Amino acid sequence: MKICTNIKPYLLFSLVIVSLFSLSRTSLLDSTYNNFLQCLLKNQTSPTDISNILYSNQNTSYNSTLNSNIRNLRFTYPTTPKPLLIVTPYNPSQVSESIICARKLSHLVKIRSGGHDYDGLSYISDDPFIILDMQNLRGIKVDPTTATAYVEAGATLGELYYMIQNVSNTLGFPAGVCPTVGVGGHVSGGGYGNLIRKYGLTVDHVVDATIVDFQGRILNRSSMGEDLFWAIRGGGGASFAVVVSYTVNLVPVPETVTVFNVQRFLTDNATDLVYKWQFLIKDIDHNLFMRLLLQL
Ligand SMILES: Cc1cc2nc3c(=O)[nH]c(=O)nc-3n(C[C@H](O)[C@H](O)[C@H](O)COP(=O)(O)OP(=O)(O)OC[C@H]3O[C@@H](n4cnc5c(N)ncnc54)[C@H](O)[C@@H]3O)c2cc1C
Repeated sequence: MKICTNIKPYLLFSLVIVSLFSLSRTSLLDSTYNNFLQCLLKNQTSPTDISNILYSNQNTSYNSTLNSNIRNLRFTYPTTPKPLLIVTPYNPSQVSESIICARKLSHLVKIRSGGHDYDGLSYISDDPFIILDMQNLRGIKVDPTTATAYVEAGATLGELYYMIQNVSNTLGFPAGVCPTVGVGGHVSGGGYGNLIRKYGLTVDHVVDATIVDFQGRILNRSSMGEDLFWAIRGGGGASFAVVVSYTVNLVPVPETVTVFNVQRFLTDNATDLVYKWQFLIKDIDHNLFMRLLLQL
């Protein structure tokens, strides 16, 4: 009983501190949101309702927007650092306005497209940060006559493949195997998949890009220059700019593709098979792609 009487003032004091802390955190978040919103409104050039693209943790859609592209479930824990704000632009101008405002208000920006980064680099930081989420920029246009496609960074590889096969059975695009991977991170990191033997890396087929640089300038291949264009094709887009879209060349593929699967266990001399495969593969027809999966 005595212990309880002694603890009470301490508890009260702790409660007051906790309440003051959460009050100051809430007002800090409110002011971060309001300052960003005011800045966007001031710089706005497109008629979209800006409040629809800006989320603080006071918004009911904040958690669903944040979690929608967290592909590594380790990073959905409450202990994972969360962004002060999430911005989901609909067009290049809004990307530009977001970068201008983030710079003006000194916010660290994490750029996210498909959210497949193994280390969560597109949505986690130990320092306070905001997420520029490209999920609303996922337009795709395929032109079978020129065998090219325009694809925005927030689209997935699966969406791109789907749109290509919608217009042609004999055109394809050499990129990754997993359909949910985002174009933004994949292409800017190099990209490889089932067509690598015949057609090389994904970036070998990129012919133009739209980016927003650190000053908020919207640039294409000719205005960004060849050095920067080279860098965003493999150097990791986020190191240089926000990639808004890529224009790519498509490649010819046969209308019918044959796929087969050979399974071997260690007890079936699988080790010998893999050993020999390493020496034979260089002489095997380039139309044949072989993928080795080690499974437990
Ligand atoms: C299940 C799975 C399967 C995979 N399969 C393949 C495969 O078959 N072939 C292959 O090559 N790779 C594969 N990868 C790797 C994948 O290509 C990379 O992790 C890629 O960076 C993911 O891109 P994202 O947009 O989905 O990821 P995000 O997490 O959104 O981004 C990854 C990185 O790119 C940056 N970034 C994202 N969007 C932009 C943008 N618009 N502008 C500038 N920077 C940007 C981010 O800041 C981050 O640093 C796979 C990954 C996973 C998890």
